Amino acid sequence: MSQPSSHQRPLAGKHALITGSTSGIGLGIAQRLAAAGASITVNGFGEASQIDALCKDLSTTHGVKVVFDGSDMTQVKAIETMISRAETEFGRLDILVNNAGIQHTAPIASFPVERWDAVIALNLSAVFHGTRCALPGMVARNWGRIINIASAHGLVASVEKSAYVAAKHGVVGLTKVTALEHARSGITCNAICPGWVLTPLVQKQIDARSSAQGIDQAAAKAQLLGEKQPSQEFVTPEQIGELALFLCSDAAAQVRGAAWSIDGGWTAQ
Ligand code: NAD
Repeated sequence: MSQPSSHQRPLAGKHALITGSTSGIGLGIAQRLAAAGASITVNGFGEASQIDALCKDLSTTHGVKVVFDGSDMTQVKAIETMISRAETEFGRLDILVNNAGIQHTAPIASFPVERWDAVIALNLSAVFHGTRCALPGMVARNWGRIINIASAHGLVASVEKSAYVAAKHGVVGLTKVTALEHARSGITCNAICPGWVLTPLVQKQIDARSSAQGIDQAAAKAQLLGEKQPSQEFVTPEQIGELALFLCSDAAAQVRGAAWSIDGGWTAQ
């Protein structure tokens, strides 16, 4: 059997750490980067046997080294340890995808303070901590790709999502600062701003609509898409994986500080 060419495996020799990659968008990105030849650190929560199977599958399907690190990304010390362990294990960290995120919906006046703190800690502060820990190694090698998974909610707002919208707008701002501080180097930082993607995070919102209004899943999905997403179709984790791979490529070397929408037209309105 012929070996895959460097064109097919453009990330061979690189190591990518994707936070929150046991599920949804993060898993889609991990699969695409592994297929492009990158070795992978998987992070996130879940059942140990499922995570083990997922890591084995990634490794055998794509012939790359895969390590799991279950660090809680709301804990500063855990983030610091995870990045330094990943650098030691693989000798380098070339690509950091700050993806782990949670949602909570409630009007501001009754928004639980503890939920505000949790959303900001994971969706915003973890991006800062991961970035600050990964940068020194990238600077030393003069190459790096930091990809922050923001959201359409990093660009526009919706009611009852104060913490999420504030965090994601913050991520878009942090992305620009990171890009500017390294503009004269081989390190780029960009945000991806997805619209609705059918992952467990969104399934919870569909379930909530379905039970609150007594409508079936299909109707709840149609309603969700109908309110925001002109294409009326979900974005897929695979499509986001392809965009992430592009942002890792040489062709994207001058894409710096962008907030790249992949949202079925949501923010074009
Ligand atoms: P998901 O719930 O499927 O996955 C979230 C991942 O984060 C999981 O792997 C989970 O285990 C992990 N995680 C949760 N808390 C963690 C913690 N404290 N430490 C480490 N890992 C943790 O969600 P998703 O939809 O794939 O979301 C991924 C990212 O994409 C999030 O930042 C989300 O805000 C963003 N996003 C999602 C959508 C969408 O429609 N699904 C749209 C725009 C942006």
